Amino acid sequence: MSLLTVLLFQSPDRAPRRLALEESILAVLAQEPDIAVAAMPPLYDLTDSNADLASLRALTDPLAALAWLYPRAIHWTLHQRGIKGRVGKTQLDRGGESASPKDQTPKDAADAPARMIWSLDLRDGDTAAMHVAEIQRILQEVRTTEPRSLASPPIQNPKSRIQNPPPSRWYPVIDFARCNHCMECIDFCLFGVYGVDDDAHLVVESPDNCKPGCPACSRVCPENAIFFPMHRAPSIAGAPGAGPDARKLDLSELFGAPAAVQLADDERNAALAGAGKETKPKDDLDKLMDALDDAKL
Ligand code: SF4
Ligand code: SF4
Repeated sequence: MSLLTVLLFQSPDRAPRRLALEESILAVLAQEPDIAVAAMPPLYDLTDSNADLASLRALTDPLAALAWLYPRAIHWTLHQRGIKGRVGKTQLDRGGESASPKDQTPKDAADAPARMIWSLDLRDGDTAAMHVAEIQRILQEVRTTEPRSLASPPIQNPKSRIQNPPPSRWYPVIDFARCNHCMECIDFCLFGVYGVDDDAHLVVESPDNCKPGCPACSRVCPENAIFFPMHRAPSIAGAPGAGPDARKLDLSELFGAPAAVQLADDERNAALAGAGKETKPKDDLDKLMDALDDAKL
C-alpha cells in the first residue's frame, strides 16, 4: 500500500545521461514504502493501445508525473489521455509557472477527479537528488492532506527499463484551462484533426492526422491554448509564460517577419503540399466569409 503514485515517463531519445538520471530516480523511489513508482514509455508517444493506460485512467488517487516535457505539457497530455486531476504546485520548476491560477480551475474539469496531479519536468533538475527531494516534499503534502493508503498502481517491476519505445508521434495538445471552445482551430485545420463532443466542446478527435512538424493552428488560437510539446520553440511546446499576452511580444512582427497568422497559413499550406493536396487562392466567396468572420456579426 502507498500514499502517492509516481509515474516516470522515459525520454524518447534514450540519451545516456537521461537514462542514468531516470534509473537513479527510480532506484531511490522504489525504496520508499509510501510511494508506488512505475517506469512508463515516453508520455507524448503513448497510444490508446498501451496496456497500462486503462488502469491509470481508473486511478483517482494523488499522482506525480515526471517526464522530459514542460509541466503544462505533462498535465494536459495526461488529461488528453484520460488521466485527469487538479494541478499540483511544484517547487522544482525553473519557469515558476507549473500551476498558473487559470490551471487550477480548468473550464472542463467538472469531470476530472478532485485528486492532485503534480507534473515535474525532468530538465528542471540536474541531479536525481533534486527530483527525489521534490517527490518527498509532495509525499509530505499528501500525508498532511490525504493521509490514507492507496492501492499500488497495477504496473509491474518498477525498475524495468522500457526496451522498445513506441514510434514518435505529432499532434496538438489542448490546455483546457485556456480553451474557450471557439472552434477557430477546427475551421483552420484542413486535416480533420479536431472534432466536437456531445457537449459542443473541442476534442482532438484524430490526432495522428496532424502533419509532423506542423504547428500552424497553435498560432491562430486566440487563447494560445494549443501546443505541441515536442516543438523546438518553447512558446509552442508549452513553456511557462506562453499565455495569450505572449503573442503581443512577438519580436518577429516588430522586425518585419510574417505575422503569426500569415506564418500559420504558410505552415498549413506546406503541410497540404506535403500531403499532395493543392492550395487554391481564396475566391470572392472565401473573402466575403473572412470579412463576415472579422466583423463578428
Ligand atoms: S482555437 Fe483555441 S480556444 Fe478556440 S477551440 Fe481551438 S484550442 Fe480552444
Ligand atoms: S498543426 Fe496543422 S495539421 Fe496539425 S492540427 Fe494544426 S492545422 Fe491541423
